[in-house]
Amino acid sequence: MPKMLRKSELPSKICPMCNRPFTWRKKWKKDWETVKYCSQKCGRMAKKTIVRAKFWILNSFSLSYFYENS
Ligand SMILES: [Zn+2]
Repeated sequence: MPKMLRKSELPSKICPMCNRPFTWRKKWKKDWETVKYCSQKCGRMAKKTIVRAKFWILNSFSLSYFYENS
């Protein structure tokens, strides 16, 4: 039982990409504070989403610019 208690005491976060909780892992020992996503897959997906969002914002800006000046 104490072992189980210890396990539940491990810090955990919720991955913003898949909304699933994930717990501290040894490989994150040094950079747990900066870990945001549960897996590389989610990290990559997040990057793609951010790039897409930036692209979309750029696009909508240039579109409104186009409409305002035509
Ligand atoms: Zn995830």
